[in-house]
Amino acid sequence: MMKVPMLDLAAELREVGADVRAALERVLVSGHFILGPEGAALEKEIATLCGVPHAVACNSGTDALHLALRAAGIGAGDEVVTPAFTFIATAEAIAYVGAKPAFADVDGASFNMTAATLERALTPRTRAVIAVHLFGQCADMPPIAELCRRRGLVLVEDCAQSIGADWDGRQSGAWGDFGCFSFYPTKNLGAYGDAGMVVAREAKHDAALRMLRHHGSRQTYLHEAIGLNSRLDEMQAAILRVKLKFLPRYTAARRAHAARYRELLAGARLGLPAEHGRGTHIYHQFTLRLERRDEVKKALADAGVASGVYYPIPLHRQPVYEKEFGELSLPGAEAVAREVLSLPIYPQLEDGQLRHVCETLRACL
Ligand SMILES: *Cc1c(COP(=O)(O)O)cnc(C)c1O
Repeated sequence: MMKVPMLDLAAELREVGADVRAALERVLVSGHFILGPEGAALEKEIATLCGVPHAVACNSGTDALHLALRAAGIGAGDEVVTPAFTFIATAEAIAYVGAKPAFADVDGASFNMTAATLERALTPRTRAVIAVHLFGQCADMPPIAELCRRRGLVLVEDCAQSIGADWDGRQSGAWGDFGCFSFYPTKNLGAYGDAGMVVAREAKHDAALRMLRHHGSRQTYLHEAIGLNSRLDEMQAAILRVKLKFLPRYTAARRAHAARYRELLAGARLGLPAEHGRGTHIYHQFTLRLERRDEVKKALADAGVASGVYYPIPLHRQPVYEKEFGELSLPGAEAVAREVLSLPIYPQLEDGQLRHVCETLRACL
């Protein structure tokens, strides 16, 4: 039976391995392991990719969000709006700084928060917004950024799934005050461990992020704030710099797979992911909407085809938030959580595998 996994990091290693091993050797010999030249070079490369002046590397995407909120001065008594349909880390970061989350609904076609759903979640205590670019496509940023500007709100972008995606030519991460990236191994640009990055437009934010990621210190053994130990190590930075060279090719491969899925699944009784047509979708996930989602997932698994449910429970329905948000109704987020199913779309996916996914899927609809 043909097997199709969600991701094939072994196949990727066959492509990037020789360069990665050479880079690791370079770091080992240098004897420099934390905050060194590889990390500094990666910061410049990511800033350039995003078209922003500043980038500060850290230990994870979760820390990137946490550091951004800290650098913006968000804390106790503040409310931060974020979509209810995202990974828990987006909301955890809000709790880490002592603030309270407020959940916005999402649009059922794009899976993202819109300016309209954001506006409904604003209160007089709202100080910041975390917009998430879910599955690799930018949220509709011009009106969201305009709303934040008009209300004087800090805008943070969760770009964990959207590196290289844009809206009208402006990259994800370049719309807000901060753009937060994750280099978790399964992301489009993945390290071989944890890693993250914050990009920023203002020099004062760059300085605050650098201080906070390093024990609240700008000068050795002088500490002006309680910070974090959230530095990027040189091995991960070197690995990411190698993989960054492959990223344009890998994004193109993901987009080609998406086009092929659309062709082979045309007319099937399912919802294909909507493209807004205003910029590049980088297809971190290729996510369908299906009424009998759990049955279909099982039938695919029985035929050797992996699939993923990101995410089965919206944040306002999670046990940790149930007490506070039990009464909140967000029909868009609740419906997509019931119906989403993501298909394999990693760069090394072969056309025979992709056809097998589509044939199996069609047979069980
Ligand atoms: C992966 C992810 C994060 C967290 O990143 P880590 O590097 O795993 O801490 C945050 N938000 C979203 C949307 C993610 O997909």
